[in-house]
Amino acid sequence: MSPPIHCFSCHTGTLVPVEREKVFTPPGLPPVVVRMQACRCSHCKLETVLEPQYAENLARLAARAKAYGAYLPGEVLHAMRRRHGLSLPAAAKLFGLSPVTLSRYENEVAYPPLAVNKLLRLANANPVVIKTLADIEGIALTPTLVPR
Ligand SMILES: [Zn+2]
Repeated sequence: MSPPIHCFSCHTGTLVPVEREKVFTPPGLPPVVVRMQACRCSHCKLETVLEPQYAENLARLAARAKAYGAYLPGEVLHAMRRRHGLSLPAAAKLFGLSPVTLSRYENEVAYPPLAVNKLLRLANANPVVIKTLADIEGIALTPTLVPR
């Protein structure tokens, strides 16, 4: 057992590990439940995520992609946009979406219709698709090193 970690906020309580269920609902598929790790202060009830928990949460989120069928997890969409150095408005224009709609897909508040999903999957698998769409829209790409 590791020594107690004191709360960085109130400096009175200690951080106690907690788990929160995050439920994802890709269309036509059973809900996907991911147990996310966090810590909660025993005194002020502040919740925070420690570095090792963050890494574990990312791994758990990545593992859920197996249950997603044809859908891309939101963070994959976000990473695709970042890889090409696209702002939300620029990426939305490129795909013919509103920035709000693309943001909802990235945060999985909503899921794209099948046709849009096919376009997003194609673009994720093949950077030439993004380059072609960007050229059509006159959008400059600034590729960055963001892991897939
Ligand atoms: Zn506290």
